[in-house]
Amino acid sequence: MQIKTLILGAGAAGLMCAAHAGPGTLVIDHARAPGEKIRISGGGRCNFTNLGTEPARFLSQNPHFCKSALARYTQWDFIELVSRHGIAWHEKTLGQLFCDGKATQIVAMLLREMEAVGAELWLQTSLRELTHADGVYTARVERDGRETVIRAANLVVATGGRSIPKMGATGLAYEIAGQFGHALVAPRPGLVPLTFPEGRFAGLAGVSLPARVTANGTSFDEALLFTHRGLSGPSILQASSYWHEGEEITVNLSPALDPAAHLRAARKGAGKRSLTTELRQILPERLVAHLTDQLDLSGNLADLSDKRAETLSDSLRNWTLRPSGSEGWRTAEVTLGGVDTDGLNSKTMASKTVPGLHFIGEAVDVTGWLGGYNFQWAWASGAAAGRSLAAG
Ligand SMILES: Cc1cc2nc3c(=O)[nH]c(=O)nc-3n(C[C@H](O)[C@H](O)[C@H](O)COP(=O)(O)OP(=O)(O)OC[C@H]3O[C@@H](n4cnc5c(N)ncnc54)[C@H](O)[C@@H]3O)c2cc1C
Repeated sequence: MQIKTLILGAGAAGLMCAAHAGPGTLVIDHARAPGEKIRISGGGRCNFTNLGTEPARFLSQNPHFCKSALARYTQWDFIELVSRHGIAWHEKTLGQLFCDGKATQIVAMLLREMEAVGAELWLQTSLRELTHADGVYTARVERDGRETVIRAANLVVATGGRSIPKMGATGLAYEIAGQFGHALVAPRPGLVPLTFPEGRFAGLAGVSLPARVTANGTSFDEALLFTHRGLSGPSILQASSYWHEGEEITVNLSPALDPAAHLRAARKGAGKRSLTTELRQILPERLVAHLTDQLDLSGNLADLSDKRAETLSDSLRNWTLRPSGSEGWRTAEVTLGGVDTDGLNSKTMASKTVPGLHFIGEAVDVTGWLGGYNFQWAWASGAAAGRSLAAG
């Protein structure tokens, strides 16, 4: 079988690329259904982009690499596409856009776009061997127990990262990168809950509060959730992408209100109130009970000196913690690192060294914040490669 472009991976980036690449394009995937991560994303409603998309909200060894693709296919382009397909959407919080209905609408939309340009999709198809000679990629694939040899002038690797192996994630993109001499930035789990030695927060499991979490100088003001194994919630997931094994994070349990000022003001009118009672006004009750074991919270407000109020406030706003690890690939929403962008053209996602080879989506060392940024990167990088292939 002879085609123009073979795309490996029918996820967000692969489907978008196919929708732009045009006739002579075949997408193959080992999964039973396309876009499985789209289907389960955003609690089944898919947080498909973010109004605030800008390069600063992406992590990469080269922070400039994502700029061109994000500028050429923007959040507004995707919103226009979604609206053109009659998919209703809404902004939830912090610029995050979700479907009003189901995430599967986004998958169906991408399949319709692909069909319209004459691109084909083969599911439950496994790659057995891949070679490249005389400007042709030869892929030996197995489908329905039968082997087929596909010859293509271009190869697009869109097989994603390592996160959630249960959903079909493999290291195929990294193997192919290695095979063709492309360097990797060590992949590691991102947007992932952080773990702590057994039992550290077990008594607080389920407690949630607004917090500011800082890792490596980058802070996020969002909800924090205590779990049986450690810490989670959007603020922790965001910070986890900036955290490395062995490092500390800082948690501000009262980012919006200065506890010292609050306690001093309360002391004036309610000196007989216990300190713990007053703290329950600003922190969840179970957290205050937990902190009683860690900090001196004895006495009434009248007994609280300004100095002690300041020390207490500082403890609540600069809580330094050293996670023992993360929940890892099993639950990580994304993969940090991946194919080194140094080897890729930022306008086309094409290899600088191997003609016709492209890497897109999560396989590449570009990772977005939580909140629709990772899909926007998948759309933008997919469109960048697809458009250049259509033009070529
Ligand atoms: C639970 C969860 C929720 C998420 N929610 C959001 C969200 O709301 N908003 C957001 O922006 N991001 C979200 N993300 C992240 C987002 O899903 C990914 O960043 C995005 O899907 C990456 O797109 P991709 O096409 O590069 O890879 P993927 O979507 O992972 O697609 C890769 C495809 O390649 C196939 N594949 C892999 N290995 C092989 C192989 N060896 N042979 C053949 N096929 C293979 C897979 O089956 C898959 O179909 C979420 C992730 C998870 C895990």
